[in-house]
Amino acid sequence: MCSMIIIPIEISARHLHLSQKDLEILFGLNYQLTPIKNLSQPGQFACEEAVEIQNLQSWGAEPHMDFTFGKAPDHNQVRILGPVRKRTQIELSWSDFICLGLKPVVALSGDYKSSGGGVIIVGPAGEVKLTKAVIIPQRHIHCSLEKAREFGLRHGQTAAVKVISGKTQNSKLKAQHASSAVRRRGGNYNSMSCRHGMAKLKTFIHQQPIRQITFHNVAVRINDKFDWQMHIDTDEANAAGICGMGAGEVVL
Ligand SMILES: [Zn+2]
Repeated sequence: MCSMIIIPIEISARHLHLSQKDLEILFGLNYQLTPIKNLSQPGQFACEEAVEIQNLQSWGAEPHMDFTFGKAPDHNQVRILGPVRKRTQIELSWSDFICLGLKPVVALSGDYKSSGGGVIIVGPAGEVKLTKAVIIPQRHIHCSLEKAREFGLRHGQTAAVKVISGKTQNSKLKAQHASSAVRRRGGNYNSMSCRHGMAKLKTFIHQQPIRQITFHNVAVRINDKFDWQMHIDTDEANAAGICGMGAGEVVL
């Protein structure tokens, strides 16, 4: 018998979080964000509002007319995620950093000291210059206290995650989790037998990974408000051929 810890893999597209102070500079006094969609992590939501992110050094320069691939690199619309936070933070992919002409900086969310900078956020009412707080978020697992206990995970540790599906329906994955939790209560702690488990996996995995990959150095973040999810950026998702929602096996 072998153990499998399955986790849904969600793609985190480029986005930013704003402090109330910066929100008001960008959108006007006492401005409130407009939620349009709840996100997988409880209390988090995507907003109607988006802003433009530009390289501080090229801001105001003539558009790059010779740039032939997609939009000009210095005109990037980025979605705001709510609610407002204590500090503004921009989360981009490695490719976004390259397109913006910035040196890529991978850091954990909230790690201000290790973050990069050199961008200007342009909103309808004003601009905010950022010399820090721009990151490529380190791939991570959101883990509740309950899951941490179940799987013996510690906050701050790292794990590897082997991608086992590039396309998954999250509701089916959640249903599978519920049934494995029932088995765990019956004594089969933290494990799912390969023989019976793989048959179940087939019920929610729609597509085997086309670009098989294992992500190493995945940071485990534990918080009682977290929902069991792994987050990767769009570059990592593309490298693994993940479309929408994937699924992985946590390897400790
Ligand atoms: Zn996350």
